[in-house]
Amino acid sequence: MNLKDKLKNLRTHSLLRSRRLIETSCAPEVMVAGRTLLAFASNDYLGLASNPVLIAAAREGAARYGVGAGASHLVSGHYAPHHELEEKLAAFVGLPRALFFSTGYMANLGVITSLAGAGDAVFSDELNHASLIDGIRLSGAEKHIYPHLDLNALEAMLQSCDRAHKLVVTDAVFGMDGDRSPLPALLEMCERHDAYLVVDDAHGFGVQGHEGRGSLNESGIVSPRIVYIGTLGKAAGVAGAFVAGADEVIEWLLQSARTYIFTTGTPPLLAHALLASMALIEQGEDRRRHLARLIAQLRQGLKLKRWKLPDSATAIQPVIIGGNDEALAVGAALLEAGLWVPVIRPPTVPEGTARLRISLSAAHTPEQVDRLVATLMELEQSGR
Ligand SMILES: *Cc1c(COP(=O)(O)O)cnc(C)c1O
Repeated sequence: MNLKDKLKNLRTHSLLRSRRLIETSCAPEVMVAGRTLLAFASNDYLGLASNPVLIAAAREGAARYGVGAGASHLVSGHYAPHHELEEKLAAFVGLPRALFFSTGYMANLGVITSLAGAGDAVFSDELNHASLIDGIRLSGAEKHIYPHLDLNALEAMLQSCDRAHKLVVTDAVFGMDGDRSPLPALLEMCERHDAYLVVDDAHGFGVQGHEGRGSLNESGIVSPRIVYIGTLGKAAGVAGAFVAGADEVIEWLLQSARTYIFTTGTPPLLAHALLASMALIEQGEDRRRHLARLIAQLRQGLKLKRWKLPDSATAIQPVIIGGNDEALAVGAALLEAGLWVPVIRPPTVPEGTARLRISLSAAHTPEQVDRLVATLMELEQSGR
C-alpha cells in the first residue's frame, strides 16, 4: 500500500493523529489558537515545568555552561552538572550508581539491548511502554509477553524457560491506566528464577515514595538484580532520564549502550536545572499531598454510568469510553467547553478501549477539578 492510501486508511478508521499548537508554557491553563484551555493533559505531575526556580536555574546553567554539550558523553560532552546529577539521583533512589540519558526512550532502548541479546529471554507485561517493547525487539532476545499484572502466567513462563540469562521488564506505574506493578512479588519471583528485574518508573519518580524517591522506595525493595529507570521530563519537569543499579550494570551500560554512546550529551544547562528540580522534589511533600487530594476529589466526584473509571490511585485517571468515534466526539465536546483531555486510541491502548487520559497535577486547583467532573458527567448524560 502506498503512503497516500495508508494515511487515508488512518483517517477512515479515526486513527489519524494531529498536534495541537500551544502558545504559552506548560501549566493547567494554556493558550491554544488564541483561546485559553484548561488542560488535564501533561505529565507535569508536580507542576514544576514552569516553576520560576527551575527557570532561573536553567538561565544560570546557560550562563555557566552555554547551550550545547558539543559532543557525546564519552568524547567530550560530559560536564560537571551531569556528573553531580548522576551521583545525587543514585543516592536519592537508593541504588549504588546512575547513568544520565537524554530521554527515557533512549534509556529503555539502551538498557534492554545492553542487558539482553540473542540466546537470552525477556519477559514483558503486555501493557509496557512502547520504548520497552522496541528495546526488546531490537535486542534480538526471545520474548515472552505476559497478560497484564498476571504473575501466575509470568511464573509459568519463567519456569518453562531454559535460557541462562533472563530479564523481567515492567512499568512501575502504567501510563495509560495508572495502575501499579506488585514490585515486591516480582522481585521475589526474579530471585527464585535468577532473573534481572527492569523497572521503568517514568510515572512514579518524583511522585511515589517518601520525598518522591519513586516506586522502589514506596515498596521498600532493594536488590542488585534491580535495574531502575526514572524519567526526568514528567514529575521532574525538565527532560532526560536515568538508569540506576549495581555498579557493574551501570559500568556495562556506559561501555555498551548505543543510545548512550552515539548521541550528543544533553545540554548541561538542563542537568543544572535538574539539580534544582531534585531539591524541589525532595521538599515537595505539600505538592504531593495536594495532588493526592485532587485524585481523591476526582474519583469521589465522577459518578459514571456508561463509561468506566478503572481503579487507579495515581495522577493518571483514565475514563474508558470504548469506540474510537465516541471517544473522539467526547474529546471534541470537552474542547468546546474549554477543557483539554487527551483522547487515547489504539494502537496505544487495546482495541475497543479508547479513552480519555485525565492527568492531574499539583498545579491544578480543586475548582478546576470540579469543572472537569461536572462537564464530564453532563456529557455522559447528554449521550455525546
Ligand atoms: C514517557 C515514558 C517513557 C519515555 O520517556 P521520555 O523521557 O519521554 O522519552 C518511557 N517509559 C514510560 C513508562 C513512559 O511513560
